[in-house]
Amino acid sequence: MTRLVIRGARLLGAESADLLVEDAVITEVGSVSVPTGAEVLDADGLVALPGLVDLHVHLREPGREDAETIATGSAAAAAGGFTAVFAMANTSPVTDTAEAAERVLDLGRACGLTEVVPVGAVTKGLEGAELAELGLMARSRAKVRVFSDDGHCIHDARIMRRALEYIKPFGGVISQHAQDPSLAGREACCHEGEVSGRLGLPGWPGIAEESIVARDVMLARHTGSRVHVAHVSTAGTVEVIRWAKAQGIDVTAEVTPHHLALTTDLLLGYDPVYKVNPPLRPSEDVEALRAALADGTIDAVATDHAPHARHDKEHAFVDAAFGMLGLETALSVVSDVMVRSGLLDWADVARVMSSAPARIGGLAHQGRELAVGSPAHITLVDPDREVTVDAAASRSRSRNNPWHGRTLRGAVLATVHQGRVTHDVRNGAGTRRELTNATTSGADL
Ligand SMILES: [Zn+2]
Repeated sequence: MTRLVIRGARLLGAESADLLVEDAVITEVGSVSVPTGAEVLDADGLVALPGLVDLHVHLREPGREDAETIATGSAAAAAGGFTAVFAMANTSPVTDTAEAAERVLDLGRACGLTEVVPVGAVTKGLEGAELAELGLMARSRAKVRVFSDDGHCIHDARIMRRALEYIKPFGGVISQHAQDPSLAGREACCHEGEVSGRLGLPGWPGIAEESIVARDVMLARHTGSRVHVAHVSTAGTVEVIRWAKAQGIDVTAEVTPHHLALTTDLLLGYDPVYKVNPPLRPSEDVEALRAALADGTIDAVATDHAPHARHDKEHAFVDAAFGMLGLETALSVVSDVMVRSGLLDWADVARVMSSAPARIGGLAHQGRELAVGSPAHITLVDPDREVTVDAAASRSRSRNNPWHGRTLRGAVLATVHQGRVTHDVRNGAGTRRELTNATTSGADL
């Protein structure tokens, strides 16, 4: 039996307690006497949260291992405090079969640094025309429950309706990248507004997102099925979701750390690191997103971690790839923007970054209370630690990090996944201790 004692952590930021972990399960909470042979992790003054869960990451494997692999993405996830991440289907080949989903699952398990949960494509090849093997993916060893064509909007209402009907019997959910292609054309590369006008860049308007979300909540009502809105970016979308929830419609939503913190004004320097889909919006939208996360209209924070190789990102703004890194900085951004301002406390952070995303994604063993009998997925946070982000120090294989050089308050110091310490920087950046094994040791960590 392996034993780990976490000493003196403040559970959800409240009272201090020790946690005894035996074979990946929490077996004692309170004042624990250390059994002989147990590993001891001193967490005096640190906040203990249930392991973080991310509903939205791009790990790029298979197909773009030059940008990220499941090994490097898993290392970045562990460093960010995540014990489960949902890997989007827009790889090459696309995750649109049971075999493809099982392969992602197995690669994640071989790394063992975080739980990698495959998201299944809704349509074959993400082409929006024909439903993928939703049932076969759900019945596979990967037990896929979240389906998404992320990167593409399911714009055909008939396909969206059929997908919602199909996934209802097995409790699936469709995560929609809401962006009407007839309102946001291929050339659009930033928010349509004052800044896009000044820069002479083709923009896309908030209504391209809001109109799809409005349609989808009505389809969810019509089918009695479940829809999840990926990366909400506008105040108008928040209004639609608030209305839908008030009607009892089964809709959930996520927001990214970058949409909670960064505004479209950053584009004035034409730096493609700020090019992302959906785009950074004006401060009025950012304020609405923060309020919606605080009042529960938006259920979860999800990173949309989107690594890109240099040769895809370092272009003129209009030609650069969309997306930003997010796994390693998510908790620090949420702490800095939402906890310091008093909009969320640590129990709320546990809800929006762990229990709610675990529930939405159908992971019964993640996002659990830090109590006897729960699986040992634990994240330890120093709420007062100031970190200056250094893109070069990232575990990700890519460097498209919009937080580089910024100082954020609040940091993940250690992560425990299935009872094993997968990340530990408690003694400062110079004494990193990270789990490596045969699968990850060859990777570019
Ligand atoms: Zn997306």
